Parts: sequence; structure tokens; C-alpha cells
Amino acid sequence: MKVMKFGGTSVGKPERMRQVSQLITRDTEPKIVVLSALSGTTNALVEIGQSIAGGDREQARQQIARLDAHYQEFIRGLVKRDKTIAKAKAVVAEHFEFLTIILKISFSEALNKDILAQGELLSTKLFSLFLEDSGIDHVLLPALEFMSIDAHDEPRINSIKTKLGQLLEQHKDKNLFITQGYICRNARGEVDNLKRGGSDYSASLIAAAINASVCEIWTDIDGMHNNDPRMVKKTRPIEQLSFEEAAELAYFGAKILHPASIWPAQFYKVPVKLLNTMQPEAKGTLITEEAGSDGVKAIAAKDGIIAINIRSSRMLLAYGFLRKIFEVFEKYRTPIDMITTSEVAVSVTIDSATDLKSILKELEPFGTVEVEENYTIVSIVGNEITRTPEVLSKLFEALVPVPIRMVSYGGSKHNVSLLIPFANKTQTLQLLNKGLFGLE
Ligand code: ADP
Ligand code: ASP
Ligand code: MG
Repeated sequence: MKVMKFGGTSVGKPERMRQVSQLITRDTEPKIVVLSALSGTTNALVEIGQSIAGGDREQARQQIARLDAHYQEFIRGLVKRDKTIAKAKAVVAEHFEFLTIILKISFSEALNKDILAQGELLSTKLFSLFLEDSGIDHVLLPALEFMSIDAHDEPRINSIKTKLGQLLEQHKDKNLFITQGYICRNARGEVDNLKRGGSDYSASLIAAAINASVCEIWTDIDGMHNNDPRMVKKTRPIEQLSFEEAAELAYFGAKILHPASIWPAQFYKVPVKLLNTMQPEAKGTLITEEAGSDGVKAIAAKDGIIAINIRSSRMLLAYGFLRKIFEVFEKYRTPIDMITTSEVAVSVTIDSATDLKSILKELEPFGTVEVEENYTIVSIVGNEITRTPEVLSKLFEALVPVPIRMVSYGGSKHNVSLLIPFANKTQTLQLLNKGLFGLE
């Protein structure tokens, strides 16, 4: 059995859904198809939630009406038979009635999660109707019945395995299953999600749970590129990556993959393929345990980074100092991305300002604390690159004009990370594209 995940652009137009239906029926291997919301929908739902949270219900009403009109147009192009047209209209009406009712209820974070879930619920129900319209036998599996996270927002992999297994068992004679990416239930049983871009994570978790032959991530580009195509003109697809390399690239900002989407596939040894819905014959990127080749493979960048510097002369020879500092971040469940130390100071970076104030307060007793915001981590990833001496020389030669704030080297054999001001991000990615890949 295999998993095929299609992102927002891949289902964003009626003709794209038609293309997806062709891709999922090309072979007879049983499959679970994971769908995102139509492109633009989750952003629209985020805005609706923000309007309601801000007390501007009239604005929310207008935003809901605009989205509703988009779906009316969408179903006109999607289904042809009278019976399915009526069903599609009923589906859209049901979900937009729900959003309208929400306008009248007092806002809460839990309610916001319900709003955000509408996109995937709509896309899968409409796709299922399209398949029905086309006479393609399938089963719609509700992700809210098997996908769950615990009190720390971590997926409950054993429970997912059991519940999904039970659902599949009920439809033993079927070959094609459709389900929602992104959405799940939390420890309180409420509707929740796997964070933005989370459909990749859903796909990988499902692939791990069913021990799939492959987890295919179908998107709007022909695989992982060597640099961010939104920032740099000339980029090229990478044929093969190891799980480690892919995980580093995803974690350090390559938007094509959700940051956490690699570990489930890696842990359960399911190969991942990144493929292009618009260009299905393109090779794409294969991600397995093998790196395929050594040397620099790709560069990724992660924004919104905060650097915290703690200076203390008492640190000199003081064992236990770092532990005490790390404990503060642990207490607030805030991961540290980069760290550099000297005898009298330590600098760390974090990517979330949620508990920044409390963290700073608790760090104060350890020394002088300074905070700098608006940084970007640029990661250079490739198998064994830290053992390739010319990488470092080329790297620093290329980046002479860039004010580098921190360097992390040697923590992983596959990654060198630099902290630079966000303002220098595009310049850095372009200089590295030339310096490391010879691409301008
Ligand atoms: P989907 O909606 O299918 O999940 P995303 O928009 O989340 O698609 O991810 C695909 C996009 O990721 C591409 O269109 C591309 O602009 C962006 N991207 C950023 N970095 C990379 C990279 N290194 N390789 C390929 N795509 C990248
Ligand atoms: N629809 C969700 C989002 O836009 C999840 C996803 O597309 O992966 O973030
Ligand atoms: Mg995505």
C-alpha cells in the first residue's frame, strides 16, 4: 500500500483535481490519498479567524462570502451530473453554514481550530464527489477518527496505527482511500491541526502507520531544489537525499516539506518521493537512507530567528552553567536551533517569541542578557560536508560581504549553519548559489 499526498496547488482548480484522479488510478497498488485544502483556503480561514478574534465580525462575514463564492465557482467546473452537483452544493452549503454560525459564537482558540479545519474537509469531500461523478470506487476516511496528537502536540503514533488499521479493516475489499491532511484531534478530543504545511506530516505519519511501500509528496515543483526558488533565479532539482539531509533542509526552512515530516518515514524506513503534479514524468527527489552522493546538496533558510546572548565572567570554568541555561528553555518547551560558546559568553537562537519574556526573566540571574531579533538561519546541507574542506573555504569566500553573526559547524556531519540578519537573506542565498553551485 502506498501514500500519495497532494498539496494545495495540486487540488486548487477543477482541472487539477481531474489530473490528480488520473495520477491515483495509474496503477492498481492500494493507496491512501492525502489532500490539502485548495490553495489559498487555509490563508483565507486564518484571516477569517483573525477578524473574528479582533471583533470585526462584519469583515469576517465578507471574507466568508468571498470564499463561498470561490467554492461555488469551483464546483461548477468540477462535477457534471445533476445528482453530484446537488451533493457538491450541499457540501459547500454545510461548511459555509458552519462558518456563518461561528460568527455568532464567542471566539476561542478551540473554535479557531475548527475554522482552520474546514479547508481539508471541503477539499476531500469535493474530490470524493468528483471521483463518484467519474465512477471511481473509493472510501473517504475521516482523519479526525484516527489522526491525533498528545498534550505536547506530538503525534500519538501507536493510536494512529491502531485506529487507522481498524478503519482499513472495515473496508478490506477497497483499494482507494481518500483522507484529509493537516487536521487531527488533540488530547482534549478537540479538532486541532499539525501546523501550517502539516499535510506533509499527515502523509508521513500515515505512511509510517501502515508501513507503506512509499510516501509520495506531490506538489507544484519537480522535487527539492538546491536553493529556494522563490529567492534565487537559477535552481535545480536534487535527485537523491538521505533522510538526514532532507530532515535538515525541511527543519531549516525548505518550504516544500513540513519541518517534522521526515522523521516518521525515516523511523519506519518508508522511502519518500517528492514529485510534480504538473509534470508527473519528471524524476523528482528520492529520499531514503542513502545519500546518493557527497558534497553540498542544498541551501535552506529559516526566518524569524531570535539570538540571545548571555555573558558572565562567572561562566569561566563553571561546570553546570550551560545546564542551568538549557533548563530555562526546556521549562518553556522552546527548542534551541543554534548555539555558540566562548569562555565568558554563550549565544543561542530560538524561533519562537511566545515565551521570550519569561525566558529572559529567568536568564537574568546568570549574567548580562542581550536579545537581537529578525535574524535568519541559512543552512548548507550535504552528506559529510563538514569533512569536505573546500566547502568551508568556498562558503566564507562567497560570503565576504555578509555580516555573519554566528556559525554552527560540526554538530552534524551534514550541515553548516550561519546566522545572518534577515535583511541579508536574499543576498546570501544568491552569493551561495554562485559560490557553491556555480549558478547565477
Ligand atoms: P504544497 O502546497 O504542495 O504543500 P508548498 O507551497 O508547501 O506546496 O511547497 C512547494 C513550494 O516550496 C515550491 O513551490 C517552492 O516555491 C517552495 N520551496 C522552497 N524551498 C524549496 C526548495 N529548496 N526546493 C523546492 N521547493 C522549494
Ligand atoms: N492547508 C494547510 C496549510 O495551508 C496544510 C497544508 O497545506 O499542508 O497550511
Ligand atoms: Mg506544503
